[in-house]
Amino acid sequence: MPAPVLMLLNRPSLDADPLDAAAPPHASLDPRSPSVNVLDLGVTRGDGIFETISVASGRPQALEPHLARFARSATMLELPAPDLDAWRAAILAAIDQHDPVPEAMLKTVLTRGVEGASAPTGWVYLEQSADFRAARAEGIRVVTLDRGYPSTVQQSAPWLLQGAKTLSYAVNRAALREAARRGADDVIFTTTDGYVLEGPTSTLVLRAGRELVTPPTDFGILPGTTQASIFEYAESVGLATAVKPLTPRDLATSDAAWLVSSVRHAAPIRELDGVARDIDTALTGDINAHLLARVT
Ligand code: PLP
Repeated sequence: MPAPVLMLLNRPSLDADPLDAAAPPHASLDPRSPSVNVLDLGVTRGDGIFETISVASGRPQALEPHLARFARSATMLELPAPDLDAWRAAILAAIDQHDPVPEAMLKTVLTRGVEGASAPTGWVYLEQSADFRAARAEGIRVVTLDRGYPSTVQQSAPWLLQGAKTLSYAVNRAALREAARRGADDVIFTTTDGYVLEGPTSTLVLRAGRELVTPPTDFGILPGTTQASIFEYAESVGLATAVKPLTPRDLATSDAAWLVSSVRHAAPIRELDGVARDIDTALTGDINAHLLARVT
């Protein structure tokens, strides 16, 4: 397994102080050595944001949509805006430094910094991806779990930060442990008013006839970069696409369904709440081939 790569950004935002006025824009560090201050608000409060980007044969995929979403999350948390040129440069430097591999996972992290200081903390971490061939080809078992909020949460309680990609993912991890207790691999969250949302780290896409459908992001879900790529691909091969509210019944009666995300890509759902489902092997294969072949 090739060594992972860590790049620390000296000035992750032009709206805030650098870590060190004399240091270069980014520096490579040993990821096995401690690098983050124990008083960093990302560590002590989960107060920060991140992106996870797939890298295929050295190409960062959907890089600009990921950077745009990173900036959007920063706005939602009132963090200093990330300097996207600095982040892009650190990302490309990290990829350059990593041994070539077919698939890698790159994380960008921006925190509010050390409590009481005025410099945010930012880093890029890159490692070879786990092997997702089984999830892509054979599918995953999924359970629906109540997220505890109505579909209007983003409008009625924006401070809950639903739809931002924050470092506070302990709830998402707890949901995955609950799925494991129920004999499943993954989760689809539902609202208290009867709609399906997204996975803890993925977007729901389903097929009804010749149409692919995903739930609206104003229900407090993350705008998925993979879902956007899949919809572009679907339209290019003559499938219709739609964004609309979906109920658990729409999901249960769909012709096929996937949880889609960067790195794992499209994982077809082969079991929903204990009930076996057919997977659309041909379309899944085409979608994943398309996702892996993306040049931008
Ligand atoms: N929804 C949530 C909550 C996520 O954390 C993620 C990604 O990690 C996604 C959806 C899928 O987004 P993307 O396709 O951009 O990876």
